[in-house]
Amino acid sequence: MQSPGGFPRGRPARTVPPRHGGGRTIHGVAGDLPPQCSAKGCRAPAAWQLRWNNPKLHEPSYRKTWLACPEHRDHLSEFLAARGFLREVVPFPAPPDALIS
Ligand SMILES: [Zn+2]
Repeated sequence: MQSPGGFPRGRPARTVPPRHGGGRTIHGVAGDLPPQCSAKGCRAPAAWQLRWNNPKLHEPSYRKTWLACPEHRDHLSEFLAARGFLREVVPFPAPPDALIS
């Protein structure tokens, strides 16, 4: 009696080709994102801060801050102004990205 050998030998090895990356990663520095516009779906860096207060929720001296890129500054400020929340719009200080070496 001959039984067929149990193990199907020689099945293809699952080799994973090594990644050729040269050691360079594409992603940026984690946790160090520049402040972005608060508009939905917008990832532009913020250039303005909209300071607002909802009198029903906040102390009069309290300020919430939205950040806005130049493109969305009007849109966001109108949104707040229409509700009577907007207090002031001030330039957002850009982080100094010119490194002194
Ligand atoms: Zn924007």
